[in-house]
Amino acid sequence: MLIDNHGRKINYLRLAVTDRCNLRCFYCMPEDGLNWLARTELMTYEEMLRSCAVLVKMGIEKIRITGGEPFVRKDIMQLLTSLSNLDGLKELTLTTNGVLTVPYIGELKKLGVKSVNLSLDTLDANRFFAITRRDEFANVMDTLDGLLKHDIEVKINTVVMDGKNIDDIIPLVELTKNTPVSVRFIEEMPFNGDGHNYSGLQWDYVHILEKIRSRFPDIEKLIDSPNSTSYNYHIPGHRGSIGIIAAYSRTFCGTCNRIRITPQGQLKNCLYDDGVLNIRDIIRSGANDDQLQDQLLNAFSHRVKDGWEAEHNRFLKTGVHESMATIGG
Ligand code: SAM
Ligand code: SF4
Repeated sequence: MLIDNHGRKINYLRLAVTDRCNLRCFYCMPEDGLNWLARTELMTYEEMLRSCAVLVKMGIEKIRITGGEPFVRKDIMQLLTSLSNLDGLKELTLTTNGVLTVPYIGELKKLGVKSVNLSLDTLDANRFFAITRRDEFANVMDTLDGLLKHDIEVKINTVVMDGKNIDDIIPLVELTKNTPVSVRFIEEMPFNGDGHNYSGLQWDYVHILEKIRSRFPDIEKLIDSPNSTSYNYHIPGHRGSIGIIAAYSRTFCGTCNRIRITPQGQLKNCLYDDGVLNIRDIIRSGANDDQLQDQLLNAFSHRVKDGWEAEHNRFLKTGVHESMATIGG
């Protein structure tokens, strides 16, 4: 079992496989995209698989593939297939924008993927275009349909943005009436690759809940699982549920069980740090698995206490200009 220097169990890895994306969500990246990483900067699938194998041996039980958009990277199913065969891995899952996902749903099911996070900020096609700068709403809805038809659990991720999709909060809650999905409202964070000026958090988890409660006064609190990043709720009579993720307020750091690896192999101990170790470089320097493991253990024994500490350390150095597409959410 992996335990960090604050006594927290680490058992969850989020692996971002690419920084590239076929959408341009304005809260994530600028309209023109990012300065995409060169191919040689990206970890290869072999390097990713080896890192994951070492980490699973050390105690990682769950891996989430994310990005950028995972399905934009060529032959992504190859990596997912190899990961699904890792001894000791209990859960393999992914986060996708749903644009290219439909043709892979059957294969995902066969690999044992039980749950997928689908990003969807609105149920209105015009607003979808305004937010993502791409006309792909119908494809995302097809993905939602396809996942449900294959009995894959769906969590919808909705970033709550002042002036953009506040009118979508209630319709998205209403979606849970007849659809067995969990809709999770996420506080907007500053990781937009400087695509727009982050003017501070307008809609925190308290306000989001107030907005939902004003329309659904009988909303009930559910019991949250021990490492949950979301406060979870249920509306009586609805098939699905609601989650609220205090991603900016950072109320969940005390039980943080997750680490991240960026597409270029940076290990992040915290969403808000700027990387503590480059796994790709360690592998490319010729290190064996034991040497890699030693360096990882050292990094896990120096984890920051919370996202505020990480952000403070980082601001002293560079400030936050990163896009969520190079972090993976
Ligand atoms: N492209 C995939 C997708 O959108 O689902 C996976 C990567 S995306 C970076 C992962 C998650 O991060 C998405 O659910 C997205 O909504 C969320 N995200 C991106 N930028 C964010 C921001 N500035 N604040 C909060 N969440 C953000
Ligand atoms: Fe792409 Fe996901 Fe970022 Fe939107 S949130 S631009 S879909 S990586």
